[in-house]
Amino acid sequence: MEYPQRLEEYPRTVVPGFKPFDPVKLARITEQIVCRCQDDECERKYDAIYVAGVYGGIATGYAVGCCLRCVFCWSYPSRDYPERYGRYYSPSEVFQRLKAVAKEAGVRKCRLSSCEPTICRKHLIALLEHVEDDPYFRLFILETNGVLFGEDKSYVAEISRFSKVYVRVSLKAGTPEEFTRKTGAIPEAFDLPFKAIKHLMEYDVPFHVAAMSLDPRIMSTEERAKLFERLASIDFRLLLRLEEEVMDPYRMTKIRLEAAGISVEWPLRRTYVPIREILIKRLKEGRRMNF
Ligand code: SF4
Repeated sequence: MEYPQRLEEYPRTVVPGFKPFDPVKLARITEQIVCRCQDDECERKYDAIYVAGVYGGIATGYAVGCCLRCVFCWSYPSRDYPERYGRYYSPSEVFQRLKAVAKEAGVRKCRLSSCEPTICRKHLIALLEHVEDDPYFRLFILETNGVLFGEDKSYVAEISRFSKVYVRVSLKAGTPEEFTRKTGAIPEAFDLPFKAIKHLMEYDVPFHVAAMSLDPRIMSTEERAKLFERLASIDFRLLLRLEEEVMDPYRMTKIRLEAAGISVEWPLRRTYVPIREILIKRLKEGRRMNF
């Protein structure tokens, strides 16, 4: 599929009967929509830039464009219609804006959100160079779905030279079938985020893993166990630091779940016991670690 000739085939919201897409190809196509490069400078589209309340307050660029279509995603409609929304910012403009809103709020952390920030590599690298060279920010939290970091080790190697970058890899599912059901991407791409984790370990980039694994409404006990097995097979310690999440009732999340034909009860009535708690208890009791 090539943009713009086949834009009518651009994957939007997951609906029943949705044709799974290759997320690496979708990243390339999305890049052609949300990035605009001239010579060596690449602008990227953003919906907004402001300080979000998470992480105790963090300057956030709400960028446009992702290579997955998660059914529980809260992102703006620009995720599905990147050609319609946002305006282009150069890396320097984004940095200055992030710094201005951060100073106003008295915070020294920043990030990109509502998107996949690794799309438009040149833009991200240039932005990280600004963050690195300017003393104001102490931390850049890079939240990623791991698709492009899994696909290309050289990207992770390039990121590893920045001292202020901390990566959060967000896993979407515990099996290839569930990965397709929840993200719209082909099952073959399920491995990519796990490869990303291995690449981050290889290049010694600080990171942790997150997963929507605390919420029985979107992850069965069997799938959860498979996810934990897979992480433990890479490094057992990943489980001790796993950030387990639940779905929050954002408007876009509800719309996307309904569009996908997934019925969810609100409010959430129960969660799983966090794997960290289970492991610590078992370690204290000296028991075997099988899931
Ligand atoms: S949850 Fe993250 S990875 Fe999934 S579609 Fe939304 S922005 Fe993309």
